[in-house]
Amino acid sequence: MINILKERFGYDSFRIGQKEIIEDVLHGRNCVAMLPTGGGKSLCYQLPGYILDGSVLIISPLVSLMEDQVQQLKNRGEKRVVALNRFLSYREKKDVLHELASYRFIYASPEILQSPLLIEALTRINISLFVVDEAHCISQWGHDFRPDFLKLGLLRETLGNPPCLALTATATRQVIDDIVATLKLDRVKQHMYPLDRTNICLYVQYVHTLEEKMEALKQLIAILPKPGIVYVSSRQWAETLANMLHGDHRVGYYHGGMDGEQRLLIQQQFVYDQLDVICCTNAFGMGVDKPNVRFVIHFHLPTQPEAYWQEIGRAGRDGNESIAILLYAPGDEQLGQAMIDAEFPTKEQIVYALDALRHGQKETGLTDVQQRLLLYWLEQMNVQEDVNILAKQLYAHIEQRKKEKMNKWIFMQRWVHEQTCRRRAMLSYFEQQPLPNERCCDRCGAHIYVNASVKHMQQIQLRPWHEELRAMFSIKVENK
Ligand code: ADP
Ligand code: MG
Repeated sequence: MINILKERFGYDSFRIGQKEIIEDVLHGRNCVAMLPTGGGKSLCYQLPGYILDGSVLIISPLVSLMEDQVQQLKNRGEKRVVALNRFLSYREKKDVLHELASYRFIYASPEILQSPLLIEALTRINISLFVVDEAHCISQWGHDFRPDFLKLGLLRETLGNPPCLALTATATRQVIDDIVATLKLDRVKQHMYPLDRTNICLYVQYVHTLEEKMEALKQLIAILPKPGIVYVSSRQWAETLANMLHGDHRVGYYHGGMDGEQRLLIQQQFVYDQLDVICCTNAFGMGVDKPNVRFVIHFHLPTQPEAYWQEIGRAGRDGNESIAILLYAPGDEQLGQAMIDAEFPTKEQIVYALDALRHGQKETGLTDVQQRLLLYWLEQMNVQEDVNILAKQLYAHIEQRKKEKMNKWIFMQRWVHEQTCRRRAMLSYFEQQPLPNERCCDRCGAHIYVNASVKHMQQIQLRPWHEELRAMFSIKVENK
């Protein structure tokens, strides 16, 4: 095993957890493994790929993530690797299916795995390991639920229950239980490793106003070692802050409203150290394996602990000292509350959407995520019901989900005002304890110096938060 680690991957030793997980995988045991972001989860199935007979099937939610992994394997000289996703042409897909058994690693998106032709081809080859990456997407209590992931249990059965390895970096007990149940994993070995990232110092900087917050950001960017990431909650803010910081530093912005080419360009510039700072929404980061990010600043309070933990985890993947700073101004709560409200459709919107669906219209007025969830719930209901009754039932689901989201949001608000160790408080959410740490957090005595008085404010138009939301979601938000 250690020979393969050296020769194939060029590493001298295993990281925490890797050896134990790989040994279980090689024994054909079903495993759920939780390792922190950057902990080296890919190796846990890539190394077995060189020992087991047959192909390793890896299901991964993000196309960019998949392409990245495939490229890395190719750079290591692996030719027998393929990514099956919607970017494959019909012809390419046909060729790949024809010689599927010749691939050591088969990456696939959950959507493409709906294809009967592909499923049929998969049943004909020997799958030695069934890997679900970012497995928290299976759970509707996870922070990034993908209904397509729910069908993976059935798929695994169809393929004759090959041994399974489910991987995640952020999951609560409830989510882990969901993963085990959905994938129907019996006699499962659970490998839960500490999520703590001891080299990231946690810090909350309190300011009085939004203006002060912007000034604090400028000062922080001036003094902190770079490169770094600034997370914001809207597209407009990503652009506004990038413009504000531009000039003194090499700054770019990144959000879901840009086209794919633009996004790729900015991401590449950041990865190859041509940018010092990237101002972005949560659209940026998943699967970006950049080792030397020195800081992550949150300009807005994330609405859920999973998101916060995953985002700060993009700092210090090289193991060197890094810092995560959250900027907080009184009133920030309002935005989060309203964001949760706006995330879910109202009863009227549901009735409208149901009507549209019933008449075969594509335009339901819902966002992609809302529609995905709605369709998933509908699949489990008696759709013969009257629209109003259906809407009522759907709304009950929504209320339940909102409640869950609110609990997460309340946790985050409490955490901001936490008087004791930040790390201990945050990790308690994942039912974990912090590891020993000398540079733990501001509550444990870590310091940075910022004088956040409003001195050199540029003239930037600040919008009231309800207008901000309207722009964010292009929907009507009541002016409270
Ligand atoms: P994760 O999926 O857990 O976030 P990755 O699998 O993408 O993490 O790995 C993160 C980085 O760590 C990659 O650059 C990878 O090459 C590196 N890495 C993984 N295992 C080891 C190891 N045993 N020794 C050194 N580097 C490793
Ligand atoms: Mg990964």
